[in-house]
Amino acid sequence: MQQTRERQEKFGKIIYNPRIDRFTLEAETPESYSDFCKSELSAPLTVHWLVTLKCNARCKYCYERDFLLSPGAEEDILSREEISSFLRDFSTAGGFRIYLTGGEPTLNPNLPFIIRAAYDYGLKSVVNSNGLYFPDEAYKSVKECGARLSLSLDSHIREIHNESRNQDSYDSLVKLIDSAAKDFVDLRVISVFQNASPDYWHEFGNFLQEKGVRSWFIQPLVGMEVPVDLEDRLNSELPRMCTRVLPAIFDSFFYILPNGDVASYAFQKKNIYGNVGTDSLQAIWEKVPNKTILDYRGLLHMKFRRTRK
Ligand code: SF4
Repeated sequence: MQQTRERQEKFGKIIYNPRIDRFTLEAETPESYSDFCKSELSAPLTVHWLVTLKCNARCKYCYERDFLLSPGAEEDILSREEISSFLRDFSTAGGFRIYLTGGEPTLNPNLPFIIRAAYDYGLKSVVNSNGLYFPDEAYKSVKECGARLSLSLDSHIREIHNESRNQDSYDSLVKLIDSAAKDFVDLRVISVFQNASPDYWHEFGNFLQEKGVRSWFIQPLVGMEVPVDLEDRLNSELPRMCTRVLPAIFDSFFYILPNGDVASYAFQKKNIYGNVGTDSLQAIWEKVPNKTILDYRGLLHMKFRRTRK
């Protein structure tokens, strides 16, 4: 099992707990909170790595739809040497986690290699999959390296999920959730918010909790109204599971594209800050504009101590 890791910054200490995938910032109570939030991190906490743009699904609301490739398409991806060198660099700089997504990340043949190499460098992997098909080798690497499996299930009702995702993945996903729970794999479910009653969400959450899911992330689509107390209500009604209701954040991650380019936003090709296969992490980080505490506010849990006078 991976251990908690820490990184000292000028403004405080960042602690990452891989067991619950939580980043905590411990600092002295600042005189000005807004100035404090402008402090810059010395390196990314996590990287949002689109390891492939191939996908075997075409979900209705997918914001990458126009850029996706078919599973058999040719694609320029990083070599294993480049992957190892980048992961070493990231770990040395104090990185904690790699978030592996796509497209569908299991369609990159190097996925198990990435997970195992990350583990060797003390980094936690989170693999975000649509669960249509999860190869045995990838599953084995997730299980053996304590990676987090993050699965997209939009409803506990088969028809609603399949309609929402535009694919028949409900049965394969539920089977994968059952296997992962049985194998004590660190499991999180992501659900795109559908307009529905709080009772529906309670029923859905109860279904997940009974299946052994301990982390649930409900993601409203941009512009969608969500009851303000939904998160608190679900956390109090479903105490064995940690629930977060949070819109997707698109502009504050360190995006890595399949060929290693680092971009401000995955598809704004005009803002490329470097390539992890050829440039050092530090050289790229210097060019990235989104590196303040404020940019990472969706991830960081703040803990302030009173300053002794
Ligand atoms: S599985 Fe993900 S990448 Fe593929 S179509 Fe759906 S949302 Fe898009």
